[in-house]
Amino acid sequence: MHILSKSTYIKGLQCEKALYMTKKHPYLRDKLSIEQRAKFQRGTDVGILAHQYFPGGVNMAPNSPSQFPKKVVETVQNLRNPAVNAMYEAVFQYNDTLVMVDLLVREGEQWRAVEVKSSLKLSPTYYNDAALQYYVLNGCGVPLSDFQLMHLDPDYVKQGPIDVKQLFKLVSVMDFAKEQEATIAANVERLKNVVALPHAPQVEIGPHCHEPYPCDFLGHCWKNVPQDDPDVSYTIDYKTLFAQAPNPKPRSIGYLNLLLYRPAVPEIDGTNPYQEMMLGFALSGENEPDGHSIWHCFEDHSRWHEGIDVLEERLSHYDLAVCFTPIDIASTLMRHDILQNQSFGHKIFNLYEVLQNAHLLHPKLKSGFNLQHIAEALFHDVKLFEHSRILVEATALELTGYEQAKDDLLTENEVVKRIYQHFFR
Ligand code: SF4
Repeated sequence: MHILSKSTYIKGLQCEKALYMTKKHPYLRDKLSIEQRAKFQRGTDVGILAHQYFPGGVNMAPNSPSQFPKKVVETVQNLRNPAVNAMYEAVFQYNDTLVMVDLLVREGEQWRAVEVKSSLKLSPTYYNDAALQYYVLNGCGVPLSDFQLMHLDPDYVKQGPIDVKQLFKLVSVMDFAKEQEATIAANVERLKNVVALPHAPQVEIGPHCHEPYPCDFLGHCWKNVPQDDPDVSYTIDYKTLFAQAPNPKPRSIGYLNLLLYRPAVPEIDGTNPYQEMMLGFALSGENEPDGHSIWHCFEDHSRWHEGIDVLEERLSHYDLAVCFTPIDIASTLMRHDILQNQSFGHKIFNLYEVLQNAHLLHPKLKSGFNLQHIAEALFHDVKLFEHSRILVEATALELTGYEQAKDDLLTENEVVKRIYQHFFR
């Protein structure tokens, strides 16, 4: 059985303790957040789509980790079989290190290896990942014509069915991988020794716990960090806060919650990878028919543009639209022609920016400046949820239902209203 894999190697580069804990105490890992699960799912979906770039390959993906040794043997058999021209997830093992190569394509007497990424650009971690795979393939004696990273092309515009040849871009990293071979070999030996230790290595917590990825053991390692008293009240710079107060005082206020969606692979003609679409909005206020309006296109994303006119019309009933979002919402609304000119942007009052500018501080906010933590810091009786849950429901990644997503949008609006009134009324 192998000791290292692509993921544990990358984890070990980030922190030796994280590697050790993953191998020896995996039950201490944090639960995956909805965002992380959605990210993994996205990577899997894009990886499967990439198979179409080199159609007709043999899928070597094992059904369970116990199948790895069998798949290693079958991969070698396929390398020797002239009838096999491509393999997906081919499994190789060298020096106790196992890798699964996303795409392996026969080119004469040699093979081209391709690692697929669901991103628009390539990060240093992707290069390290590719270098490890090259090291293993080279160690296994696979003659390589090239090693490439494949990623989504931000300039691709969908027209009709997805054209995978245009959707993906290929970048050779063969030279980099060759240069890294000695370094990789040294890293593999070092990390194998870490796994063989009788106890977890002593590693202090620090910035590396979040870079390049948030560690799976944050809950375990950070649990002994002295917690501030959760009942302590917040602090805020009131001078800066009130300097930002809406002026003149608005006669009518709407509370706006936008649901934006950025699919990795474009779904609608005329859109790019990760292009933003508005899947829905909730607007709460006295000028709405039932105290609130909800528009969404959860069931049919191609209708997303229709919501823009609806939102523009509804916003015209208010002097001020209050929201809470880390995005530059005025620019977003202008980009979608919802706000036609800069002056209309003054109708938008983003509590996220306002409270950050006024340096709202509370122990709860250490783990993130989000609506849930702010509500908890201010009111103690509010329990929200991950905002992303709404998006996940709305994109049907989990079949928990659209009705819940709509309710959640309105619940968030209620909290935004409560925060606004807390400070400005
Ligand atoms: S939380 Fe930090 S110290 Fe602990 S295993 Fe993860 S990266 Fe290492």
